[in-house]
Amino acid sequence: MSQEKEFVEKVYNCPHCKKIHAVKLPSNIAENRESYPFRHVFLHGELKELLTTLYIDKNLQIRGVEVHHLQDSDIFSKEYADQMINKLMDLILTLQKENEHLREQLSNLGV
Ligand SMILES: [Zn+2]
Repeated sequence: MSQEKEFVEKVYNCPHCKKIHAVKLPSNIAENRESYPFRHVFLHGELKELLTTLYIDKNLQIRGVEVHHLQDSDIFSKEYADQMINKLMDLILTLQKENEHLREQLSNLGV
């Protein structure tokens, strides 16, 4: 295995905190996407109730940021639940693809 950097650090402007945050992304995160920019969904660092979506282009530039505050009241909002499900589905698809991609890489390595 090469010792190339596995992660790249990117910064984005958090619309919730009105601050710049750093986020670590796997350096191959932009590979093999169906379209660009693609979504990267994660929970906000210290504030776990914030769901953050980054829109990242092929060159790992962050093109957009969305933050959703997970509040108790949101649980009762159907619109919000739908949004959430869409995001989670996206995330699952992304993880599935990454998994496939990794398996491919592994089989190429003859493991
Ligand atoms: Zn923030």
